[in-house]
Amino acid sequence: MAKRVAVIGAGASGLAAIKCCLDEGLKPTCFERSDDIGGLWKYTEKVEDGRGSIYKSVITNTSKEMMSYSDFPFPDHFPNFLSHTKVLEYHRIYAEHFDLLRHIKFKSGHKCKKCPDFTTTGQWDIVTETEGKQETAIFDAVLVCNGHFVEPYLPLDSFPGLEKFKGRWFHSREYKTPDGFQGKKVIILGMGNSAADLATELSHTASQVFLSTRRGVWVLNRIFGYGYPWDIVFSTRLKNWFRNCLPSAIAQWMKARSFNQWFNHANYGLETEEGAQWKEPIANEALPSRIICGAVSVKTSVREFTKTSAIFDDGTIEEDIDVVILATGYSISFPFLEDSVIKVVNNKVSLYKSIFPTALEKPTLAVIGLVLPIAGLMPTAEIQARWATRVIKGLKKLPSLNEMMEDIKKKNKILIKRFGMNRACTLLVDYIEYMDEIASEIGVKPNIPLLFLTDPKLALEVCVGPCTPYQFRLTGPGKWDGARTTILTKWDRILKPTRTRVAKKMPRSSSSALLVVFLCFIILISFLSMFSYFREPDL
Ligand code: NAP
Repeated sequence: MAKRVAVIGAGASGLAAIKCCLDEGLKPTCFERSDDIGGLWKYTEKVEDGRGSIYKSVITNTSKEMMSYSDFPFPDHFPNFLSHTKVLEYHRIYAEHFDLLRHIKFKSGHKCKKCPDFTTTGQWDIVTETEGKQETAIFDAVLVCNGHFVEPYLPLDSFPGLEKFKGRWFHSREYKTPDGFQGKKVIILGMGNSAADLATELSHTASQVFLSTRRGVWVLNRIFGYGYPWDIVFSTRLKNWFRNCLPSAIAQWMKARSFNQWFNHANYGLETEEGAQWKEPIANEALPSRIICGAVSVKTSVREFTKTSAIFDDGTIEEDIDVVILATGYSISFPFLEDSVIKVVNNKVSLYKSIFPTALEKPTLAVIGLVLPIAGLMPTAEIQARWATRVIKGLKKLPSLNEMMEDIKKKNKILIKRFGMNRACTLLVDYIEYMDEIASEIGVKPNIPLLFLTDPKLALEVCVGPCTPYQFRLTGPGKWDGARTTILTKWDRILKPTRTRVAKKMPRSSSSALLVVFLCFIILISFLSMFSYFREPDL
């Protein structure tokens, strides 16, 4: 009989998890607290308890080709960077195409507990509450897909005096639109994507916006070389291999050089502090423009708040502040699980390959989507779910506890060396390295040497072109026949939404003929002038 799997949450990770269960012949039931799919990407005018919340103007910071599920590209007419409505539309098409909705129970609160005989069965008791009615059911496994941008992080100790502040203050999670900020003086604390997005948006409405950062940040332009999306240019196997081969100091120098080519970060107050060079960059083409126009002013961290003002670390004071927004990020939390299953310490969890809790006697629970890949989260979550469902089915085995702990320690060391000790960096992974690592576990990592022998055109694209998620459907379990064509046609899908007007040009043949005539003319003139130069002067 097919194993029963409880999927917690019907957001981007949850939908992929349901699909992977079905692909493996498992029987999924998804429990979703709200009344719709899409998780974070479902915009609501009011913040909902226990659910991710976004602002109306949010645009993805990764492009559609890099953030799609591996066997389901975004429709070619969709823009490269997407609004929440477009991402949600994609989720709806995906759910409909793979018939996922009938496996989801909406408005269903949940608690997961190990069954009393867990050590032998690995089973879970799922207690759900739908419209006041409680039900308990036993499941063979659980896929945790609750997202990690739900619980706001409010480090009030870092902002002494905020309790005395007479104006309004709130976490960025509460922000929806710029309505109500007309003529206000606003301070935004933090320097992640939320802080930068809110600062640039509010700078058109507020009288002044101050952006206060402890460590600075690298700012990426979504529009990279020749106008292609940044991740299409940046996330290639060849470049990644080259970057990872370089000594860290040289790689950092090259990174700084390339980021500073757009604008010198030091001159805009955004230069990163020691140790923050590898912090998650932000994607925001408007920020330097709003800074140079004076609408956003970058400040150091706040030393103290008074009733109406903020005193910054560099001794400067800004008076008559109306609003303070804490864009200080989120905390990992699993409110529906007992602490003994996954313990969160300093916003860190001990998960084998960022998926499997090591404290369990049986590998029947996996966390999906708890990573920050600096690329598409959706394909990363999907590949995790592909592996997890194969482990649940018994097709793949996890190593011994010792080996898993060794791997976690090794990864932690690399993480600290690469990204530092900061709490916001605990989930960062190198996208291509991580995808390849999980793909190797499933047996779907592209075999590049073999590909060069059998299909050199595709091999070249896989190495030098963007590492799109379709690369992980070329071979092995879950192979998708459309993968090759989808890889080779990505430029068409990238250009379709922007190349909406093609200028009229002279037919190629007549323009090349004209060029040939012109060149002949130039050669003739040069020849004649040479002749006239060298010939005997007429006497
Ligand atoms: P975040 O990336 O975690 O950034 C939080 C910021 O808060 C940090 O950069 C840090 O700034 C500051 N901070 C944290 N603890 C602090 C403390 N104790 N004292 C002072 N400052 C503190 O949070 P986020 O910007 O909300 O983003 C969350 C996730 O959502 C990210 O992965 C982001 O990429 C994503 N996101 C994406 C978009 C988009 O696609 N457009 C938009 C928004 C968010 P300092 O570095 O200055 O210390």
